[in-house]
Amino acid sequence: MRTPFIVGNWKMNLDSAGAVALAKGVAEKSAGNSKARVGVCPPFPYLAGVKSALSGSSVQLGSQNIYFEAKGAFTGEVSAAMALDVGCQFTLIGHSERRLILGETDAVINKKVNTALAAGLHVILCIGETLEQRQQNNTEAVVESQLQGSLAGITLDPSKITLAYEPVWAIGTGVVATPEQAEAVHHFIRQWLTRTYSQDVSQATCIQYGGSVNPGNAKTLLSQPNVDGLLVGGASLKADDFAAIVAAA
Ligand code: PEP
Repeated sequence: MRTPFIVGNWKMNLDSAGAVALAKGVAEKSAGNSKARVGVCPPFPYLAGVKSALSGSSVQLGSQNIYFEAKGAFTGEVSAAMALDVGCQFTLIGHSERRLILGETDAVINKKVNTALAAGLHVILCIGETLEQRQQNNTEAVVESQLQGSLAGITLDPSKITLAYEPVWAIGTGVVATPEQAEAVHHFIRQWLTRTYSQDVSQATCIQYGGSVNPGNAKTLLSQPNVDGLLVGGASLKADDFAAIVAAA
């Protein structure tokens, strides 16, 4: 029922030639997998080049962020319409690096989710606790509050929103959540979706895990009943590693 969704977040890496080469590698090595949906999120300046490099493949293009205003005097920002215009089908919103480094609040993220959906972009909404919050046994409270704040007033259509559980302590650290830790939070999110929306919405919503995923741990994570996909940072920068992760799905 839930098709695995594997997405590479390239963050602020690569140059234009490297982005195009990686996109071609992903299209060649990962796109033959009919059991998974695959997407990549290049830096903004490389979106158009990557779109061309992906042409003819089923790999989807996503942006790493959008701004919540439609146009105007917002120096340095990129609108949802602009992301669509260069070929994006989806966007990440609320990545922990944006929450923690750029100071994005749930209220800002909520506006971005609304804007992206209204423009016709699929949204991957990222949530997840810090190490300190986990150590204080606040994981569920933090995740619930991020979900409530980011999705306030939004009717969740599972064909338009994917959730990505990304514990901050696992992102870029090499410390992956154990399959049991990931499953426990994904199960909690699934229950929250049932309580907040409905059983149907809950069952149809794709919940990705992200945080130090690599070819060696992807399969065990994906074998958990409530882990429906992966959001991959570092390992998505090598076409072979990313292809191996897609193959695990
Ligand atoms: C991410 O940034 O979304 C991520 C999961 O990074 P990494 O795979 O490098 O931990």
